[in-house]
Amino acid sequence: MADDKEQLRYDPAAIEQKWQERWAADPKLYAAEPAESKKPKYYVLEMLPYPSGQLHMGHVRNYAIGDALARQMWMRGYNVLHPMGWDAFGLPAENAALKNNTPPREWTLANIAAMKRQMLRLGLGYDWATEVTTCLPEYYRWNQWFFLRMYEKGLVYRKKSKVNWCPECATVLANEQVVDGCCWRHEETQVEQRDLEQWFLRITTYAQELLDGLDKLGGWPEKVRTMQRNWIGRSEGTEVDFGLEGGAAKIRVFTTRVDTIFGATSVQLAPEHPLVATFSAADARLRAQVAELLDEQKKAREAGDVGAIEKHGVPTGRYAINPYNGERVPIWVANYILMDYGTGAIMSVPAHDERDFEFATKYGIEIRRVIKPLEEFEGSEKLPFISEDGVLVNSGEYNGLTCVQAQNQLQESATRQGFGEGKVVFRLKDWGVSRQRYWGTPIPMLYCLSHCEGDGPLPVPDDQLPVLLPEKIDITQQGGSPLGRVPGFVHTTCPKCGGAARRETDTMDTFVDSSWYFYRYTDARNTKAPFDPATAQYWFPIDQYIGGVEHAILHLIYSRFWTKVMRDLGMVKNDEPARRLFTQGMVIKDGAKMSKSKGNVVSPDDMVARYGADATRMYALFAAPPDRDLDWQEDGVAGVSRFLGRVWRLVTKHAAAVREGGQGFSPDNDATVKGGASAPELCASTGSSQRLLRKLHQTIAKITLDFEGRWHFNTCVAAIMELVNELQDADAQLAAGEVPAPVVRELLQTLVLLLAPFAPFLSAELWEELGGEGSVLRAPWPKSDPELAKEDEIEIPVQINGKLTAVVRVAAGADAKTIEAAALADEKVRARTAGKNIVKVIVVPGRAVNLVVK
Ligand SMILES: [Zn+2]
Ligand SMILES: [Zn+2]
Repeated sequence: MADDKEQLRYDPAAIEQKWQERWAADPKLYAAEPAESKKPKYYVLEMLPYPSGQLHMGHVRNYAIGDALARQMWMRGYNVLHPMGWDAFGLPAENAALKNNTPPREWTLANIAAMKRQMLRLGLGYDWATEVTTCLPEYYRWNQWFFLRMYEKGLVYRKKSKVNWCPECATVLANEQVVDGCCWRHEETQVEQRDLEQWFLRITTYAQELLDGLDKLGGWPEKVRTMQRNWIGRSEGTEVDFGLEGGAAKIRVFTTRVDTIFGATSVQLAPEHPLVATFSAADARLRAQVAELLDEQKKAREAGDVGAIEKHGVPTGRYAINPYNGERVPIWVANYILMDYGTGAIMSVPAHDERDFEFATKYGIEIRRVIKPLEEFEGSEKLPFISEDGVLVNSGEYNGLTCVQAQNQLQESATRQGFGEGKVVFRLKDWGVSRQRYWGTPIPMLYCLSHCEGDGPLPVPDDQLPVLLPEKIDITQQGGSPLGRVPGFVHTTCPKCGGAARRETDTMDTFVDSSWYFYRYTDARNTKAPFDPATAQYWFPIDQYIGGVEHAILHLIYSRFWTKVMRDLGMVKNDEPARRLFTQGMVIKDGAKMSKSKGNVVSPDDMVARYGADATRMYALFAAPPDRDLDWQEDGVAGVSRFLGRVWRLVTKHAAAVREGGQGFSPDNDATVKGGASAPELCASTGSSQRLLRKLHQTIAKITLDFEGRWHFNTCVAAIMELVNELQDADAQLAAGEVPAPVVRELLQTLVLLLAPFAPFLSAELWEELGGEGSVLRAPWPKSDPELAKEDEIEIPVQINGKLTAVVRVAAGADAKTIEAAALADEKVRARTAGKNIVKVIVVPGRAVNLVVK
């Protein structure tokens, strides 16, 4: 046997190279069929990577999950779309250009080529005919086209606004790209605030629909839906106008608790509120104080958390008038009130709000209780009292109403008298898409220098698309868009008057690219439109989308928005892009996220070179449930590689016998196949065959079920390992021909089929060795036969008050409930317990049942 092992060596490098070449010669292998296909469709998609030049282990894990699913669906007879592409615009290409003096396009395309090689080496089954590369004009022209369609629909606008500015990136960041006050790419760099003219997409138009749609996305992880709900942040409340004493101006405040308005003892304005400028115009001291508050606010914003700011305020010496009771309350300016949230003004009710309480206590502002609990309880006299379970006091004609009743009546009254109305506000802001960068989609707008249509921007006509990104330009990090320093790009002709015009030099946020790329896969070479609506309708929604949870609120909200816009443009019929979403866990090492600075990065190339692609992929699925973090252990990969070696030896050892063995399998004709075997041999073989077939069909059932939803691929791989162990334990019987050839064939071929989604190279090799027909990728997924999978029955004694009464037969492995039911249904047991009280049933699964009867 030792010699055997020496001769038979699993050589993943040779096997994988052989199959990689064969697959490369067959570009149709992973191609989806056209929409006319009779097969049911299945669109499985992994999030497209940024082409950094190197796959990392997180990618390998993400793609191994998607590829296993795609392969299993192919085997189940589905028409599968499994594409891949490149999120190819973005800042790193520019940084690399600065560092290495390589043009971004060249750098990006070289990286794409390198990563594609890695993907092919890993044996990932993508249809490369539909490859999408977002930095190429054939793709980004449609970003421009969409931008113009949105502009026509009033979903695009330009305004001066406060933006997050990363000094390191020298560009504007979306709110979502600011993490704890720092740039998402530069975790050490504090984000600053600047005022710039910016382009915005009106995502807030869809805020309510984006929120409501979450309820229907049952196939999405709850944590992602919760994050989106919080991000959209809907609150219902009332806007109320306070009057200004001695002036005509109104101060509009937004509150979710108008029922507490009789407890308002001050009005607080944001430092940037227009009235503050009026008040301080002739008051230098106030002006200086306000400037200080504004400065504190800016710093808090840059640190990312205005909520945690130490609250400061200054009284303006002016008074506001509560419209409900005519009461005059002081007007303050406070550093924690933001001009871009709500109306930039609040009523302060210290008795019923934590923040107001803190502020009033600090500055000695009156605290007046206006809500009492329905029933007094210990501590209910303590302020602030936040609960809405209460009734109004000190509130004039509204006294005695519950909070909810009062909210309705006060709002009605405001509407009737014209000093307020009900209002829904969202935390979600419009999507700022302007970037002062080179490596992105040029925004297709221009400015006529003779202002023939006024001062506003003009859209580039469709027939002038794409607005091409100029090549070979100087990239410096001097601020402002590099495109502004390219005269050939900036100077153009006004489409209205034919005079000189200037192009917009901002480019689009790269999240635009990824908002609709998955539609392009369905019709990637279309030169007339982003995609053919009928083809997209066939494939959409995506059946299974797989990616990292870090995209829960960025990409996944933007792409939902884009789908709704496309639906309203009549391009698609689906409301949501993806039916099911799966977010895989991270790959970590030594308890920490892999990063260059920690020196704990494991290179996929190294793993593949050492253990093979199959072992690397399979380990990524085996080491942890896919939704959990995976702590990378090289020992584990080596272990999986050894296991694959065992499979290879087991199958190749019996392959010749299987190829020569009988065709067609039926467990009933063992005897006829076995031919002249003696009686004892036949008995033994039948026992082994049954046992092995039972294990096989249990394994099929388990893996099939897991693919349907749970996706515990780690336990799937473990089940295959158990099956292989049993087959190895029966090696003597297999070698001696005690298990009939058709059974061996069934066992080994099915083993290879079960392995195919996880270890495609080895499966292809062994499928061929066993004489399997065609490609293993198209071989039918095995079906579990419940009869064969059924466990043997065992006998369980039933005792009543310690006395053996009956013996019941149940399936081996039956659970306590099943055993109890069988015991209670037994005739002898029923006779002995008739008319008596069964006090207790004690079940020892697999062993005994004890009844205590009185
Ligand atoms: Zn940055
Ligand atoms: Zn003009």
